[in-house]
Amino acid sequence: MNSIVAIVGRPNVGKSTLFNRLVQRREAIVDSVSGVTRDRHYGKSDWNGKDFSVIDTGGYSIGSDDIFEEEIRKQVKLAIEEADLIVFVVNVEDGITPMDAEVAKLLRKVKKPIFTVVNKVDNAMREPDAVEFYNLGLGEYFTIASINGSGTGELLDALVAEMPEPEPLDLEAEALPRFAVVGRPNAGKSSFINALIGEERNIVTDIAGTTRDSIDTKYNRFGFDFNLVDTAGIRKKSRVKEDLEFYSVMRAVRTIEYSDVVILVVDATRGFEGQDQNIFWLAEKNRKGVVILINKWDLVEKETNTMRDFEAMVRKQIQPFTDVPIIFTSVLTKQRIFKAIETAVEVFENRKTKISTSKFNDTMLEIVKTYPPPATKGKYVKIKYCMQLPTLTPQFAFFCNLPQYVRDPYRRFVENKLREIYNFSGVPITIYFRQK
Ligand code: GDP
Repeated sequence: MNSIVAIVGRPNVGKSTLFNRLVQRREAIVDSVSGVTRDRHYGKSDWNGKDFSVIDTGGYSIGSDDIFEEEIRKQVKLAIEEADLIVFVVNVEDGITPMDAEVAKLLRKVKKPIFTVVNKVDNAMREPDAVEFYNLGLGEYFTIASINGSGTGELLDALVAEMPEPEPLDLEAEALPRFAVVGRPNAGKSSFINALIGEERNIVTDIAGTTRDSIDTKYNRFGFDFNLVDTAGIRKKSRVKEDLEFYSVMRAVRTIEYSDVVILVVDATRGFEGQDQNIFWLAEKNRKGVVILINKWDLVEKETNTMRDFEAMVRKQIQPFTDVPIIFTSVLTKQRIFKAIETAVEVFENRKTKISTSKFNDTMLEIVKTYPPPATKGKYVKIKYCMQLPTLTPQFAFFCNLPQYVRDPYRRFVENKLREIYNFSGVPITIYFRQK
């Protein structure tokens, strides 16, 4: 299971610059695939063969100055609850401020690995100034200059050293479907889960723990075996309410990471908004399957095209990954609850699809030869061979002479063709063009 790293600290110490440093390489790839940049506060990274997520907590901070401090305190507390490792950023130019001391006090009580990072140590002259940060009572610290990246390698080495070894692939692949039910507060998540599992809700254990067993609870409903990922169930009730975007997104991170398929519950009476979009995007970014439930459909006044129009609106919001099942449910009247779970199981199966290299070449090579990438600067790209990569989630490589000349529109064209031919409904796929 991938670790989650939270970056905490007061505003303007350089958290987002460090965040960008940590996720940079991966982000570049993902963004060029999707062509869209949404949330800049959550990203995936990898170092020494370990994948992990990074959350920039401060990025979400909103509100006026008077609630500012309280806000930071809440964010730190939530980061402590949700993350596996915490990076606490301070600024050598400012020394220890009262807010730093405050945050350090919260962190000193925590059992999780804490990494104090002294930022803006741009030159050796400033190294001695950093010594003062021993007074935070958090032990060793790292000095970095996130503006030019110096020191980040050492920090990354130390971070991944604390992370568990990655699990072997086939172990995960064989597991039962793991469904995460996520969405904005009040969208109907708990009602959906209750409708789905009925009385068995009571058997969900309340034991705090971090092993996967205590997070997965196995159910058999409507003839399907699945695990419901319920990280909230094993967490002690938090004082922090899920009222702000930051909190519900942060809560969703862990749940989504543990899952195979994300069931995104949307409140139809509120439309599909930024927060829904961000949670959707979290799932996409983690390459999880997705099913969207437009819930409380009983409350929506319907005319001839209401459903069609609503669906079109949602698809527009989730571009370019629009090949996703959208189901209109009413948890209250139990309308399409079965359909929802059936679709989630289908998406789980789609996500495991493996296409043999010979069949894939027969089909896709034909298409890319008929519709080759447009010539750029007089250069012609010739695709010679293609295959599905042996990864857990669907990823494809097209080997060609000049991969650098393949542009995003062509990549999308190939993805669309692939989706027309094979069933990857609800499944993010990645297409690489590689040198042959
Ligand atoms: P959660 O915060 O996402 O877990 O949302 P809840 O499951 O607690 O639901 C919030 C409120 O919406 C509750 O009062 C539910 O009874 C109501 N609700 C949930 N689903 C539906 C639905 O499909 N139709 C209607 N009319 N109300 C619903």
